[in-house]
Amino acid sequence: MPWLPAAVIGALTAFLWVGCAGSAARTAPALSRVTTTRPYVALTFDDGPSVQTTPSLLDLLTRYRAHATFFVIGQEAQAHGDLVRQEVLQGSEVEPHTQTHRNLRRVPDRRLRAEVLDSAALVSRLAGRPPAFIRPPFGTYDHRLVDLAREAHLCIALWTAALDTRDWSGRTPQAISRQVLTHVRAGDIVLFHDGPGLRRNTLVALKAILPGLSARHLEAVTLATLWAARTAPSPDGSSAPMPVAGREGTSK
Ligand SMILES: [Zn+2]
Repeated sequence: MPWLPAAVIGALTAFLWVGCAGSAARTAPALSRVTTTRPYVALTFDDGPSVQTTPSLLDLLTRYRAHATFFVIGQEAQAHGDLVRQEVLQGSEVEPHTQTHRNLRRVPDRRLRAEVLDSAALVSRLAGRPPAFIRPPFGTYDHRLVDLAREAHLCIALWTAALDTRDWSGRTPQAISRQVLTHVRAGDIVLFHDGPGLRRNTLVALKAILPGLSARHLEAVTLATLWAARTAPSPDGSSAPMPVAGREGTSK
């Protein structure tokens, strides 16, 4: 838009991108990576907390001076509030992954609101600060979540396409770590899973991934830290309007 003054372009860009903090744009894009000059990567863990996995995950993160973002299921967080508080104490971030992990495109409006707003309120209470992001189960949603996220001042956060580790599917630790260390670059968002159950393959993979990131001079930070370090108004490749077709079933 060369005919527009820079200030106008800036204002338009800001309008589009407050989306991740409550924009008026109905087609506010979901976050799948962040453009940044900092050597930051966001490791994200869905579906916890879990008594079998979360403590080990936190130990590993602490050992490597890394921080992560945990997208917790409300009913699990309710049952294991102590684990949520440990996540916060470790310096990691806790964000909602809905209340009962339903496909948000298949629930009626009232249930959609409860899934999102109840889990956001719970995270706010347990973590001691309001959530900034929401990750829909299976990465699946429609315009109703876009509207609701805007109303609740939440940014819809997905993940970098090449970094969905599908660690829930029985992949070996070697396959998981190879995938991450081959594709990861600054600004990326990596998808792993916490509970329920024991994520042994995820834990073993992280023992290679965390030092591997350091060797690549990349730092594992929270999604909020990565987002705050953005140097461009939009993450590349993540501005597709919703709904995201064909995403169902690609992850958990
Ligand atoms: Zn999930």
